Amino acid sequence: MKLYKQKKSNIDKRGLFATKNIKRGTRIIEYKGKIITKKETEKNLKFDNDKDIYLFNLNSRYDLDGDYSWNTARLINHSCNPNCEVEGKGLKLWIISIKDIKKNEEFSYDYGFGYDINYKQFPCKCAAKNCCGYIVREGSRWRIKNKKNLIYNFF
Ligand SMILES: [Zn+2]
Repeated sequence: MKLYKQKKSNIDKRGLFATKNIKRGTRIIEYKGKIITKKETEKNLKFDNDKDIYLFNLNSRYDLDGDYSWNTARLINHSCNPNCEVEGKGLKLWIISIKDIKKNEEFSYDYGFGYDINYKQFPCKCAAKNCCGYIVREGSRWRIKNKKNLIYNFF
């Protein structure tokens, strides 16, 4: 039995949801894609933007391009309080639970976007208590919170 099913999501149009209770540390689904060399990544105009949502670094030589409809795992949304992470094993990527997950809960992971000037293009609707409002990786979110504080202090 699959541990996931597609459903309408509040975070984005669709998401993947747990079909049963799942323990922390479980492999949920493989993040599939085409393995390409770093050179191919550099040459491909498709990757010529700030946020390569479906592009993963496998090692110093290879990337994985998961931007294919047959990669079901790409439906997993970003959350500022995620219950999964992406784990690499050799040239394979897996979505692994980092918390116990209840049946019907939506799977999510931190997309890991860095903070940059364009962060406002990627609003986050994850509704977590710690949501900073944008899809920015955990280690960089303080920058956005500080900005908010600055605005409050100003008034
Ligand atoms: Zn969020």
